[in-house]
Amino acid sequence: PDRIVSPEAEGVETQDNTLRPLVLDDFVGQKPVRENLSIFIEAARGRGEALDHVLFAGPPGLGKTTLAQIVARELGVNFRATSGPVIAKAGDLAALLTNLQPRDVLFIDEIHRLNPAVEEVLYPAMEDFQLDLIIGEGPAARSIRIDLPPFTLVAATTRSGLITTPLRERFGIPLRLTFYEPAELRRIVTRGAGLLGMTLTEDGAEEISRRSRGTPRVANRLLRRVRDIASVAGLEAVDAKAADAALTRLGVDSLGLDSLDRRYLSSLAETYLGGPVGVETMAAALGEQRDVLEEVIEPYLMQQGLVQRTPRGRMLAPQGYRYLGLPMPQDRAR
Ligand code: ADP
Repeated sequence: PDRIVSPEAEGVETQDNTLRPLVLDDFVGQKPVRENLSIFIEAARGRGEALDHVLFAGPPGLGKTTLAQIVARELGVNFRATSGPVIAKAGDLAALLTNLQPRDVLFIDEIHRLNPAVEEVLYPAMEDFQLDLIIGEGPAARSIRIDLPPFTLVAATTRSGLITTPLRERFGIPLRLTFYEPAELRRIVTRGAGLLGMTLTEDGAEEISRRSRGTPRVANRLLRRVRDIASVAGLEAVDAKAADAALTRLGVDSLGLDSLDRRYLSSLAETYLGGPVGVETMAAALGEQRDVLEEVIEPYLMQQGLVQRTPRGRMLAPQGYRYLGLPMPQDRAR
């Protein structure tokens, strides 16, 4: 999706590491996560052992990949990256694991999308650093066991509910990332402006961070677009007024919502009378995939208190009615 507020990496962003913090001390926010990591990294380093396996869970764009790279760097080991859907066969996983040096970090993004046959092979690899592979077929098939170097699996997921229990239980360090506070995003945007050589006033940083949906990836993207618009307009410094004008022009409102969010809310209000309505129905009404709704659109709308997820479906929350400027239906008012 080519949304300016998409929390997922778009196009060149996947290769651009200009704004990525490299060490734990430069990583803003997620304090409990940082504190835990720092202790466990220090302990593993002190003992000269591989760090226990780490699972990062949370919405896209919050820094899971960044933290995985930081973990490897702080441990002083290699970082190898892949993702769940890319590992098609057990042999693909075996090739990755047998190429690791002792204590290396293997990062598997989107671990919830791992093929079940591959997942089976991963269990003994994580637990005992052993690979059990079947080679050959039919009567000639035999199983071989390969010893692996001790390694650290760092995995990331946007859908921790989809991870099987046996897999989840093999992560000694499960960590959850949450949306960033406005003050934290302000620091991220200010740091980014410095790295991009751009003059951003304090209220300019505030304006951009307020509209960044609690998500550093969105904050960094809005920052770059605002910089483009300001430089074409010949502005020396970006203040709140310039940021507001640029972001409004990009269709991002004062809460950070774009037209897709607004369509979601008004469809829920008008077509479905505030709900409850099932996610499949909402997805069809918006012409979007169910996954996109659940992983990308709804987490922020819920965090902002605009939408509620109930066992019977999605409902527009009182805040949602207020946002749309609509009265609460009588039977809903408490
Ligand atoms: P995820 O893997 O959770 O989707 P990433 O680690 O790829 O997210 O981070 C998305 C972008 O946001 C990166 O380009 C990174 O530069 C930036 N970023 C993430 N977390 C922070 C942070 N705490 N401080 C500064 N920038 C961050």
